[in-house]
Amino acid sequence: MPILCSNCVDKRAVLKRPKTGHSLCKECFFWAFEEEVHQTIVTAKLFKHGEIVGIAASGGKDSTVLAHLMKLLNERYNYGLELMLLSVDEGISGYRDDSLETVKRNQQQYELPLMIVSYEELYGWTMDAIVKQVGLKNNCTFCGVFRRQALDRGAIMLKVDKICTGHNADDVAETVLMNVLRGDIARLRRCTAISTASEGDGVVPRCKPLKYAYEKEIVLYAYFKKLDYFSTECIYSPNAYRGHARTFLKDLESVRPSSIMDIVHSGENLSVREGVKMPVQGTCNQCGYISSQALCKSCVLLEGLNRGLPKLGIGKHHRLHEKILSKQPLTEKEERKLKSVNF
Ligand code: SF4
Ligand code: ZN
Repeated sequence: MPILCSNCVDKRAVLKRPKTGHSLCKECFFWAFEEEVHQTIVTAKLFKHGEIVGIAASGGKDSTVLAHLMKLLNERYNYGLELMLLSVDEGISGYRDDSLETVKRNQQQYELPLMIVSYEELYGWTMDAIVKQVGLKNNCTFCGVFRRQALDRGAIMLKVDKICTGHNADDVAETVLMNVLRGDIARLRRCTAISTASEGDGVVPRCKPLKYAYEKEIVLYAYFKKLDYFSTECIYSPNAYRGHARTFLKDLESVRPSSIMDIVHSGENLSVREGVKMPVQGTCNQCGYISSQALCKSCVLLEGLNRGLPKLGIGKHHRLHEKILSKQPLTEKEERKLKSVNF
């Protein structure tokens, strides 16, 4: 006997929702999933009528579902938003070039303007060239720091009021875990926020409309809607540490599916004891981007690459910032320490 949809009790159920355990037909699942994202947007007041919103698009499942939903909900509920796609080309041949082709097809399918900003144009380095210099261990640190700034720069060029990203509940839970494991209190406090206000000049407010959507449901939605997305993993492999957190989370989820949301809620409800020292946000003396040090992370990483000292931005070398800013040469000992690729 086929199982009937527990919502309409009419059509045959095609899936059991990972989030709620309900057996639903395709149409009822689409409706439930779309409504939940709409509720997230409305409850957290993510957008204002008339805003220009840049959708960070990588061609992957999360950002493709996000672009699809933003267009659909904007029309269904008359949000009054002007939507655009914003992509970052990290310069990873055999990976990003292919996924950007997907974004270009999405642009046609959703009829949205698209802007692509590249690491090569912004920094003079592609990830291919960076990996050649730094190896495969800390490449994601470079990539993550550069991406954050690249999205802001692209958003400013496009004159958008806000950027929305495809981060889902699994991503947020993973980040909470990673920050706990690292003891990074400042990030732990920030990482569950559904939206961030502008932290200064050159930083565009961001939000995560899929924050409460399970990755499994995003995949099901994309699959049943036959969305055009790119599913290959980056050839420079995901950050090893994040990989451990991800595996741990998946193990927890297989025993208790609600673990993901429980971790997100734990992160949201954590409060930091008064008197705990937090980094003070200022601006980078070189490029003006937000930074709690004299130089922002992006400038330090770039300086390290340009000087052939890749370790400069990895670890704590704050006392060298003044030297870099005043263009003083480093001592032989300092150079030797920062040169090694095996870090
Ligand atoms: Fe960049 Fe690392 Fe992600 Fe590849 S896995 S796109 S190198 S952050
Ligand atoms: Zn800087």
